Amino acid sequence: MIVKKMKDLGEKRSVIREIFEYGNARRAAIGAENVFDFSLGNPSVPAPDAVNEALIKMLSEESSVALHGYTSAPGDMGVRAAIADYLNKTYGVGAKPSDLYMTAGAAASLSACLSAVAGEGEEVVVFAPFFPEYRVFTEQAGASLRIVPADEENFEINFDALVDALSEKTAAVIINSPNNPSGAVISEASLVRLAEMLKEAEEKYGHVIYLIADEPYRELVYDGVPVPYATKYYDDTLVCYSFSKSLSLPGERIGYVLVSPTAKEQDAVYAAVCGAGRSLGYVCAPSLFQKLLPHCLGLTADIDTYKLNRDLLYEGLTSYGFTLKKPDGAFYLFMKSPESDAYAFCERAKKYELLLVPGDDFACPGYVRIAYCVTTEQIRRSLPAFASLAKEYGL
Ligand code: PLP
Repeated sequence: MIVKKMKDLGEKRSVIREIFEYGNARRAAIGAENVFDFSLGNPSVPAPDAVNEALIKMLSEESSVALHGYTSAPGDMGVRAAIADYLNKTYGVGAKPSDLYMTAGAAASLSACLSAVAGEGEEVVVFAPFFPEYRVFTEQAGASLRIVPADEENFEINFDALVDALSEKTAAVIINSPNNPSGAVISEASLVRLAEMLKEAEEKYGHVIYLIADEPYRELVYDGVPVPYATKYYDDTLVCYSFSKSLSLPGERIGYVLVSPTAKEQDAVYAAVCGAGRSLGYVCAPSLFQKLLPHCLGLTADIDTYKLNRDLLYEGLTSYGFTLKKPDGAFYLFMKSPESDAYAFCERAKKYELLLVPGDDFACPGYVRIAYCVTTEQIRRSLPAFASLAKEYGL
């Protein structure tokens, strides 16, 4: 029998994908250069040259049987050793290779972690605005989301509302810094305060509460803003990392979970992550791209382009009268919709061939997400369209 829950999920197109499909139709109708598509978080800068160079070298010099074969389920030991070494040197994590579980990107990292630590009847606390797939992965695990409303001042952590959200049902809390869709980075002071609250809640409720740090944008920060490493502040941390954005490799599906060496019952949590990956049928992360990683750790795609895009767009939009905060990281701007219905605003924007995403999908109505991981030329050409849109609202 077809499982209705899955059928519904398969039939329900994401709003972002729908806008992207609309963009495809417009591109075919009026030419790609006339459509200002800011819908998808697909990196526009190429992977560093070192990625292709290493792949070519590996493919020409190493045994293809080894390169394309299965690795052990948690990942190739040499690769995990290289990553542990990198994390220890860069963030002082104290990780062992056996604390790492290689995955097919942050999405797989998140679904394995959530299935490992959040079960039937339990809750996963998330902060609006948040990546919509958190709901899918949490509900698949049998748990439910507990949404903390946005801190609209600076899109960090709404601590007052967090107090009410934590309960004996809390299994995990997800943070995402730099954030999709707001671009906000969680400061060290906020992380310290969050860790204190979670430690208190662990004591009060007598069970572990996991902090899941979803970090695909870790390296995408501008003007030297620091991104504190969560394991230093809170023992029971699971880091979900991905190379999709840092190395511009989203289609290759490669990332990892780090189960903090400081976690209580570390062996059991790690085993649960492996078991969750097994039950989800992950087998092992893509072998060739695992083996690429030791050649590329510490490298980042050219983020100067994203910074230039952010600055051009931010300056343009604020000068036209739109309200938004300058984000410190990722490649999204989160702008207040000039009318309360962000869907209606996005419809009006289409008149100017501007494709924006309503914040409702990120549990933050009244805002729109603008993904600026596009060409700088698109940003420049889109500015008059934004100016006309602002005029229509009398800004
Ligand atoms: N988490 C967030 C916040 C994201 O924005 C994304 C992708 O856009 C993911 C996770 C999934 O990333 P990956 O491509 O590594 O699966």
